[in-house]
Amino acid sequence: MPLAPALNRALRVAVFGGLMAHCVSATAGLPRESRVPGGVALVDVGASSEGRPTVTRDGAPVWVAHRDSRWLAVVGLPLSIKAGEQALQVTPAAGGAPRTDRFDVGDKRYPTQYVTIKDRAMVDPPADVMARIERESAHLKTVRSHWRESSTTDASFTVPAAGRLSGRFGGGRVLNGQPRSVHAGLDIAVGTGTLLKAPADAVVLDIGEYYFCGKAMFLDHGNGLISMYCHLSDWLATQGATVRQGQAIARSGATGRATGPHLHWSVYLNGVSVEPELFIAAPPPQEPRRRGAQ
Ligand SMILES: [Zn+2]
Repeated sequence: MPLAPALNRALRVAVFGGLMAHCVSATAGLPRESRVPGGVALVDVGASSEGRPTVTRDGAPVWVAHRDSRWLAVVGLPLSIKAGEQALQVTPAAGGAPRTDRFDVGDKRYPTQYVTIKDRAMVDPPADVMARIERESAHLKTVRSHWRESSTTDASFTVPAAGRLSGRFGGGRVLNGQPRSVHAGLDIAVGTGTLLKAPADAVVLDIGEYYFCGKAMFLDHGNGLISMYCHLSDWLATQGATVRQGQAIARSGATGRATGPHLHWSVYLNGVSVEPELFIAAPPPQEPRRRGAQ
C-alpha cells in the first residue's frame, strides 16, 4: 500500500477514534437534555477550574456534574412546570455571593391515556383506606426527595427489564372514564416473576407495600437521582444494600393498582418525576395494545 493512503487511513482512524472518545467522555453518566415539562435541563453553572458550586431549585438540592471542564446543573423539570423562564440558585464554591441563573423551558403536550380497571376500589378508594393513602403519600414524597451526595452517580441507565412499553410517561390518565393524575413513569409489560435488574449502581433506599404501587422498591443513585419499581411480586435486595448495575433487585408482578403483570418504572431527579427514556440509550419498542398498565 502506498504510504499516503495508509497514512490517510491511519489519520482518519485516529481522528474518528478521538472524536468517539470525546463523545463518550462528554455524555457518559448524564441523561439526554430535554427542556420541557417532565424533562431534564443541563445548565452550565461555571468553569470546573473554579470548584463545584452548590445549586438549588425551589429549595431542593440539584445535582452538579462535571463535563468538558464545565459544571452542569442536572435539573429535573416537573410535569407541572409552565413554559418560560426558570431560575436556579447558585452559590459559588469559593464563597462568592449567591446568584440566580436563568434558563428557558419549552412546552410539551403528552397524549391522554385511557385505562379500564376492574377493581373499582383502586379507582375510587373506599373512605377507610384514605388515611392509609395519605400516610403513604407523605412517606413516598420524603423518599422521592432523598438527597445523598455522591461522586459516582451514573445516569446512563440500562433498562430494568426487557419488554414492550405498555404505558408512556407524562400522559394524563382517564381511569374508567374519570380523569386522574398524570402517568409519572414507564410501564414495561413483563410477566409475573420476571427478574428486574438495577439500571445503574445504587443503594436500596426504601422497600414497602403501598396501596397504589403495590410491592415497591426505590433505588438511590446519589445526588437526588432516585428510581422506583412498582407492582412487584418479590424483593431480591434488602433496604440499605449496595447494588450494582445489572444486578437482580426484584421480581415483577401485579400488586397494587395494575391491570395485569408489568413493571411501573419511575425516575426522580431533585424530587420531581422525569421521563425515564432520557436515561436509557435505546428505549424498548412500544406496544400498541394496552396490557399491563398503571
Ligand atoms: Zn405505570
